[in-house]
Amino acid sequence: MLRFFILFLLCASLFGAEVERYRWINGETYLVFLEKNNLPTKELYYNLDTEDQRLTEELLTGINYQVAKSAKGEIEQILLPLNDELQIHIYKEEDKYKFEAIPIIATTETETFSVIMQQSPIGDIVRETGSKKLAQIFATSFKNSLNFKTGIKPGDTLVMIYEQKYRLGKPFSIPSLKAAMVEVSGKKNFIYLNDDEKYYDEKGSQAEEFLLGRPIAGARMTSPFTKKRFHPVLKKWKAHLGIDYGARPGTPVFAAGDGFINYAANAGSYGNLIRISHTDGFETRYAHLKSFKNGVRKGKNVKKGEVIAYVGTTGRSTGPHLHFELRKKGVAINPLNVVQVATVNLQGKQKAAFDRLAKNYNEKIESHLNNKPEYQKPRKTRAKCYFYNETPPPEEEEAENS
Ligand SMILES: [Zn+2]
Repeated sequence: MLRFFILFLLCASLFGAEVERYRWINGETYLVFLEKNNLPTKELYYNLDTEDQRLTEELLTGINYQVAKSAKGEIEQILLPLNDELQIHIYKEEDKYKFEAIPIIATTETETFSVIMQQSPIGDIVRETGSKKLAQIFATSFKNSLNFKTGIKPGDTLVMIYEQKYRLGKPFSIPSLKAAMVEVSGKKNFIYLNDDEKYYDEKGSQAEEFLLGRPIAGARMTSPFTKKRFHPVLKKWKAHLGIDYGARPGTPVFAAGDGFINYAANAGSYGNLIRISHTDGFETRYAHLKSFKNGVRKGKNVKKGEVIAYVGTTGRSTGPHLHFELRKKGVAINPLNVVQVATVNLQGKQKAAFDRLAKNYNEKIESHLNNKPEYQKPRKTRAKCYFYNETPPPEEEEAENS
């Protein structure tokens, strides 16, 4: 019960009313909600126009909403957020309940957070902040450009600058990542949200177009990339300049990125092989294929994610698998470490503006690292009351940890 019903005295002065905070229960519909609260379905649903009725279908499981009740326990007002900008406002006027959709008033704070890695970025962010959302936005922004699993070592540092919206004094909606720095084995990697709403790395290269590190679905890695490995039985150094993905014969193989096929034929120990040229001198190779997709031949342009072939065990292969390689100007690199291809590079005025923006963020990151302030959870922000006709509440300590 406590999970869904968290009382906090936010607008205690509101006509002697109390505001209660609830969480929208899984699967609850707006109509059921009205009935449960003895609210009139005619005024608050059936009499609404179609557009307003449709809005009531937008209520999402897990949202927090507020109910203000009179001293007698009657519902005075309800605020039901529909997204991060709009909310349903149910209120009482001359003893009748009314419905309106109104903008959400939120304040936005820019916050900085840093953590020294212990296990994984995701786990460490959640442990430090208790926020899965922060971990999520971090992971998605760097997802395809860095491989956290193998690259990040304990002791590496991560810094995030992000904007967090607050509604009624509580963190609200998905934070927006403005800049981040993450060390991978001591090497600093940056990402910045530019004015064009796209992420760029420290060189001003757009970091949103990528090669896939795993151009096959439902396969598991059976042999990792290694530049040199001492084979304990054969007693010699070996290399595996690609990644093997074990999969059933016939499993579709995708093009890891946009490009054109520069080779599609048998190639000795590679068996049936496809090679695709990408921008910036990158090339991907797909070996031991059973067959090529109809129409796939040398010279053909392909799109990222397009099916090009099927898993087999042709050439020197002990069982059905895809051998996948990534090369830059001929040199083999681990596809899981470097799968980012810069497709857009900022230039001229745009580059200069971006450099200023990046410099500004770098200073913030620097100063944060120098000062190492502790992360505060929950954030100490003054709760604002946005209910109708409210008078500002006295400063009150929040009783909740969320
Ligand atoms: Zn292999």
